[in-house]
Amino acid sequence: MSLYSAFNSQRSLVLTLVILLGGGFLATSLLSYYASRATIRDGIVNTELPLTSDTVYSEIQKDLVRPVLISSMMARDTFMRDWVVAGEHDPGQMTRYLKEVMDHYGAYTAFFISNSSLKYYQAKGVLKQIDAKEPRDVWYYRVRDMVTPYEINVDPDMANKDNLTFFINYKVFDYNDNFIGATGVGLTVDAVTKLIDRYQQRYQRSVYFVDTFGRIVLTGADGGPQGATIGQLLSNLPGLSDLKGKLPKPQSGSYEYEVQGQDHFLNVRFIPELNWYLYVDKQEDGAMSDIRQSLYLNLFICLMVTAVVMLLLRRVIRRFQHKIEVQATLDSLTGLPNRRGFDLLALKAMQEAQRETKPLAALLLDLDHFKSLNDNHGHLAGDDVLVGFASDLRSCLRRSDIICRWGGEEFIILLKETDSDHAQSVAEKIRTLAEQHRYTFFGTPLRVTVSLGLTQWQSNDTLHSLIARADRALYRAKQAGRNQVCIETALPNAE
Ligand code: GH3
Ligand code: MG
Ligand code: MG
Repeated sequence: MSLYSAFNSQRSLVLTLVILLGGGFLATSLLSYYASRATIRDGIVNTELPLTSDTVYSEIQKDLVRPVLISSMMARDTFMRDWVVAGEHDPGQMTRYLKEVMDHYGAYTAFFISNSSLKYYQAKGVLKQIDAKEPRDVWYYRVRDMVTPYEINVDPDMANKDNLTFFINYKVFDYNDNFIGATGVGLTVDAVTKLIDRYQQRYQRSVYFVDTFGRIVLTGADGGPQGATIGQLLSNLPGLSDLKGKLPKPQSGSYEYEVQGQDHFLNVRFIPELNWYLYVDKQEDGAMSDIRQSLYLNLFICLMVTAVVMLLLRRVIRRFQHKIEVQATLDSLTGLPNRRGFDLLALKAMQEAQRETKPLAALLLDLDHFKSLNDNHGHLAGDDVLVGFASDLRSCLRRSDIICRWGGEEFIILLKETDSDHAQSVAEKIRTLAEQHRYTFFGTPLRVTVSLGLTQWQSNDTLHSLIARADRALYRAKQAGRNQVCIETALPNAE
């Protein structure tokens, strides 16, 4: 396999693992995120918001229904009707009656407005005369003309330092069903506002009331959605256009809508006693931030694990590759470089010699009659001799010299910075050492001689031409009887 394709297959292996590992991690993280998200959404829509709505409703009932009943009782009271029909003679009777109602039922205020005299009676006496041109008194004319028997209205109470007050305005009729005035009680909005605030803070959801026209009628202390104040139409709030599309008119149900890229869940419930709608709204972000954070943490861990695995993998692959590369250039028997290793080292040595104009000598060696050594003593004995001979070669040479097992019982040596004379003496030293050395194989002494062909590198030599010349020298050494060194000199500008 070429280096290029090895590199490519390594890259595709790493890429496949990244995709498998990263993809697997990503898929499980996202799946669990979406599963938790669906569960939380389901909980909000089907449990949390309706539950808040139920509780607020029952509290409201407690706080508002009672005053409605009291007002209804006042409107039907025979004293009140008789007193009005009789001509409102003694205002003290009416104010006492109203004071009784206030004290007995714990109302904030109790009132009666006579349609004939337009006097505003309350517990402390006659407060004022109603005037159609007075904006504060507009409510009375609205009540007079309305079809329903009563309304609930939030207004500042003039008799009580203009505190925001819930007024239950009931129409009063005489016994012939003629409209004779309006009565009712008022209670401060504080209690309901506090209740709304408590729910908003405790459960991070916003609670407010909307009338049948879509107008905000009651909110917590901080106002309604988008900071809207009482009296504003929901449909006029610029941020709620998505909601307007889904809920053009107030209607009970569960809704999901978007405000500035944030999902909202909304539960709307009609409160018949008030003729209002209770809106309980929760922003998705608050509910999801925990699981979103754990998703980010998961993804971060995935990324780190994938990165660490990739780093480890790269290191293992590199080490393995290096080992293979080294093994591919070494001869397993003698540990010397093989031909592949030699080619790289030799080209480098030739470039150095060229660059530094230094001599370089090449020696080609072939053990003599090695076949008969194998035949007589066995292949393993031959192997042992080859290993011993390789070690002898090393002992005769410098570390900078290049030794290679060329193949079989042939070796090649490049002697750096070595001229012909010196190379010849090195060759002779090798030959003598081999001749004198007694290699032993399981106690059997083995002898071997070596023939050597020597030549000098020329500046116009290729590796091929250099070896070819050394080979010719070796051939001559064999021809001349073996166990000797022959030199082949290059012809000037030849080869
Ligand atoms: P010559 O003097 O002409 O070189 O004779 P030779 O017998 O050495 O030459 P030849 O090329 O006929 O034989 C080489 C022998 O080397 C043949 C082969 O079995 C042996 N040989 C090659 N590689 C190995 C090896 O790795 N181990 C062993 N034990 N023998 C090997
Ligand atoms: Mg040979
Ligand atoms: Mg041989």
